[in-house]
Amino acid sequence: MSSLERGELMPELLRIENIKQHFYSGGGIFRKGYTIHAVDGVSFSVKQGETLGLVGESGCGKSTLGRSILKLFEPTAGKIFFEGRDITHLSVKEMRSLRQEMQIIFQDPTESLNSRHTVGMIIEEPFIIHGIGKPVERKLWVKELLIKVGLPESAAERYPHEFSGGQRQRIGIARAVALKPKLIICDESVSALDVSVQAQILNLLLELQQEMKLALIFIAHDLSVVKHISDRVAVMYLGKIVELGNALEVYNSPRHPYTQALLSAIPIADPRKRNTNRIMLKGELPSPINPPKGCHFHTRCPYATDKCKEDKPLLVAKVGDHADACHYPLTNQSKPNSVN
Ligand code: SF4
Repeated sequence: MSSLERGELMPELLRIENIKQHFYSGGGIFRKGYTIHAVDGVSFSVKQGETLGLVGESGCGKSTLGRSILKLFEPTAGKIFFEGRDITHLSVKEMRSLRQEMQIIFQDPTESLNSRHTVGMIIEEPFIIHGIGKPVERKLWVKELLIKVGLPESAAERYPHEFSGGQRQRIGIARAVALKPKLIICDESVSALDVSVQAQILNLLLELQQEMKLALIFIAHDLSVVKHISDRVAVMYLGKIVELGNALEVYNSPRHPYTQALLSAIPIADPRKRNTNRIMLKGELPSPINPPKGCHFHTRCPYATDKCKEDKPLLVAKVGDHADACHYPLTNQSKPNSVN
């Protein structure tokens, strides 16, 4: 149970305002340049100790957004506040000290861990980079961190390839929490793992969150993973948030047709039952180079009207703090007829 679930009032840790991350590909003699609108105006905040699930299909911009928040990319527009401080335009040098507070855990621990370094060296590295502790102290901290993430002290002497995928992710987590950060962005951190190992890693993250009052932004394409650990959920489509709210409300009463379709695709645990409620979206995710006019989702939405093709819906909280970006949010009333 997170701090928020326990009803504790926690201060705001992170706020992003209208973040845009566009990538420009320059043209050549025979080729026109183009702009990829990877993230196209995203705003939300995260409280200390809170878990925000960020979900959407591959290519919707959620991983890019995670990197923009950490300023691994320089945002094209918008503002990022961390503990009330505007960090949008901090230099690389100024960001270095802030990196202690903001960490990321990647999807593929194999790629993110240096295969030529022992596990001990990998976990010790953040302390060395930030000039923290003496060698003897750091060796002790590495052992403590290994135990904290459920690995034996002896793991320090071994290399990443000697471990399973789940164990490698534990090593990645040990490294990420080494400097006691306040925010960790988990970018598809359990997606490559077996279901049983996923559960172990999620439980480990939740334990560490409670112990360290960590805020997590948990990026995933699989809504069933995010459901169990998130206080709030943000659903992203083509660079924009289309629904944002308390996790239970979003899962039990989705207001955006895209969220409804994603939820309908969650497999049913009982293999004898067929998922007869699945909503099949037509077509592919449109290109972020040339997103559709009006509502970005109108080309695939079963409820789209002419208004949807022209007018861009804004993300607005219409019921409590449950926000959606839809002209006709799902309610118990019927939808307008499709014109597609
Ligand atoms: Fe569908 Fe229209 Fe709502 Fe977009 S605004 S999600 S097209 S009903």
